[in-house]
Amino acid sequence: MIYTLGIDIGSTTSKCVILQDGKDILGTSIFTGGTGTSSPIKAMETVLSETGITKDRLSAIVATGYGRTTFTQAQSQMSELSCHAKGVHHVFPLAKTIIDIGGQDAKVINLSDEGKMANFVMNDKCAAGTGRFLDVMANIFQLTIDQLETEAFKAEKAVKISNTCTVFAESEVISQLASGENISNVIAGICQSVAGRVAALVRRTSFQEDVCMSGGVAKNGAVRKAMEKELGVSIKYSPMAQYMGALGAAIYAYDKTLKERMNSNE
Ligand code: ADP
Repeated sequence: MIYTLGIDIGSTTSKCVILQDGKDILGTSIFTGGTGTSSPIKAMETVLSETGITKDRLSAIVATGYGRTTFTQAQSQMSELSCHAKGVHHVFPLAKTIIDIGGQDAKVINLSDEGKMANFVMNDKCAAGTGRFLDVMANIFQLTIDQLETEAFKAEKAVKISNTCTVFAESEVISQLASGENISNVIAGICQSVAGRVAALVRRTSFQEDVCMSGGVAKNGAVRKAMEKELGVSIKYSPMAQYMGALGAAIYAYDKTLKERMNSNE
C-alpha cells in the first residue's frame, strides 16, 4: 500500500486528504484558519489520527494553496491551479472547466482533454464574488455560512443587490432589511450576486462542459443554481468540492512516490 497526504493551505481554511494507492480517499480534515495559523498542523494531525495512519507510513506529503511554501512538513509544493485540475479530473474525468470559489479569490480553470490546465483567469483583487462576500453577509443575519443556502431556498424571488463592492453591498443589504424586504429574498439576492460576479469571469474564458464547481462556496446550492442559470449549463458538484486542491496534492504525492521508486529500481 502507498499512503500519501495532500494539504491545501488556503487564505481561509486548511484542508487535508489521505489517499491510498493514488485513488482511494481514506480520510479528510478541515480547519478554519489558513496560512499563518495553527490550522495546517491541526488539519494534518487530525486526518492522521482519524485514519489511524502514522506519519512515518506516509510515502510523501505535498502542500498546495496560498500558504504552501511555509509548511515545513511537506517534501514538495505544487500550485493550486495544478492541484485543483488534478483533483477535479480524478472525480470528474470529463470536466473541461472548473469554477473554484475560495475565501478570498475566484478562479476559472480550463482543462485539456487529458485533464491538464490549459488556461485560467482569476479574481483576487475584490471580495465580491468570493467566500468573503458570503461571510460578511452571513454576519449581518447572524447566520452560519451553511444556513445561507437553506434561507435562500425559501425565497420567492431574488432581491437585486446593485452594489458590487462588498462594503457598499453590506450597507445596501442593511437598508433593504430596514425597509422590510423579506430576509430569504435578500439572501437569495446575495447568492445571485456572487454567481453573477463569477459568471462574468467565466464568460471571459472559452468555457466548455462539463463545468464543475470547487472551493468552499460551491457547497451553497443556491449559488450553484444561480450559476447554472447565468451560464446556461448544468454544474457538476461533489461533496468533495472544498477538498479538490488537497486531493490533487495527494495524487501528485503518489505520482512523485512512483517516480522515485522507478528511479531507484533503474
Ligand atoms: P481557501 O482555500 O481560499 O481558504 P475555501 O475553498 O476553503 O477557501 O473556501 C472558504 C470559503 O468557503 C469561506 O469564505 C466560506 O465563506 C465558504 N464556505 C464554506 N462553507 C460554505 C457553505 N456551506 N456555503 C457557502 N460558502 C461556504
